[in-house]
Amino acid sequence: MTTCTIAIVGGGTAGLSLATRLCELGIRDVVVLEREPEAGGVPRHCGHYPFGVREYKRLMKGPDYAARNVATARAAGVDIRTGTTVTALHPNARLSLATPEGLTELQAQRVVLCTGVRESSRAQRFLSGQRPLGILSTGALQSMVFLHHKRPFKRPVILGSELVSFSAIMTCGHMGIKPAAMIEENPEIFVRKFMRPFPAIKGIPLHTGVRDLRILGGKTVEAVTFTDASGQARHIDTDGVIVSGRFRPESALLHASHLRVDPATGGPEIDQFGRASDPAYFCTGNLLRPVETSSWCWHEAAETAARLVDDLANPIGDAPQIRLQAADPAIRFALPQRFTRTDRSGGMEHMQIRLNKPASGYLSLTQSDKTLWSDYLGSRPERRIFAPLSPLASTADTATVKVKLL
Ligand SMILES: Cc1cc2nc3c(=O)[nH]c(=O)nc-3n(C[C@H](O)[C@H](O)[C@H](O)COP(=O)(O)OP(=O)(O)OC[C@H]3O[C@@H](n4cnc5c(N)ncnc54)[C@H](O)[C@@H]3O)c2cc1C
Repeated sequence: MTTCTIAIVGGGTAGLSLATRLCELGIRDVVVLEREPEAGGVPRHCGHYPFGVREYKRLMKGPDYAARNVATARAAGVDIRTGTTVTALHPNARLSLATPEGLTELQAQRVVLCTGVRESSRAQRFLSGQRPLGILSTGALQSMVFLHHKRPFKRPVILGSELVSFSAIMTCGHMGIKPAAMIEENPEIFVRKFMRPFPAIKGIPLHTGVRDLRILGGKTVEAVTFTDASGQARHIDTDGVIVSGRFRPESALLHASHLRVDPATGGPEIDQFGRASDPAYFCTGNLLRPVETSSWCWHEAAETAARLVDDLANPIGDAPQIRLQAADPAIRFALPQRFTRTDRSGGMEHMQIRLNKPASGYLSLTQSDKTLWSDYLGSRPERRIFAPLSPLASTADTATVKVKLL
């Protein structure tokens, strides 16, 4: 077994930003473990703008940004080990690894999980029909196009209307692929108003409120059928389906471990310092929740570095905690899930909240029927919503704090 000070699982945006900042803060022996042959994470295959504006004050494409994150980490002294998959998390910061040299173990003082998010698969979306070739996530399409320069289809249907579905349109454009349609099961598309005309500008028919979607084909995809919002049966000839969005944290390792998982985010349960239920484990980046931008994850991870440095010097240990709970059908999740009562400063200042559906009302933090904080909110799913964590520092009660819309 080898040892290190901090082991970071995942060499994407968050892992590299965190590792760089740790080295800048004077921590030695920072190791990044990345299963892919190259570090950089998702931006490696996002061959479009805009990345890097806040981080490097430059407008960059994803692959250039990923390469810059890798080069900056290496220059700071980070040990990046690629082709290295973490296969198990053990109590007290011990990891099992599959490396090019074989199976081994790594004992760290702290482990930080930065394994990111991925899109829901066809099976996870309960899509019916046949199982032909030609059904890809946006991520798989991007890596085929930008990393392997392959064109998997010519006239695909895009399923989904999140920001990443719009990335899929841009990725298609890069290879001369012309989507046959964009299909959304919800009554409205997700992105902000100013982006909504984009499919029409690109000549891509948009169908919302779609039901009974089926994928048809023999060896490869031949068509999709569905019922549209007006109740009319539709048939679209196509040679592929891009199953885009509906992100979920890449939490396979977590589920197989001793760490507690939050069913609402699908990621780890953490406190305001990013500590998991085993305090030797911290978590940051998109593993925390679906889904944030690369820039957000970069900054979030850099902030986590200072918390780790403090914890190495003076561990917080088992201080009492207040549980935070989303207690409203309109609220999808609230993060962090626990608030540690300690004099230590430097934790997150705000709770991150997302909605399940468009909603309005007074967003409130209540504890034992007492309102700790409240403010008017009118918002939609996928928008960032914040509530301050400071009211939790001043309550003497340790009962669960509920996040509600009143
Ligand atoms: C398809 C897709 C498209 C996206 N497009 C954009 C976009 O255009 N703009 C934007 O701002 N954001 C985009 N995002 C959001 C994206 O998650 C963030 O940009 C950013 O990459 C998050 O950083 P991260 O470090 O949390 O995760 P990632 O960058 O995903 O890095 C996680 C890393 O962990 C590694 N890993 C996972 N499990 C293991 C393991 N067991 N052992 C070792 N290594 C492991 C992975 O290989 C990966 O390199 C997209 C996400 C996806 C999935």
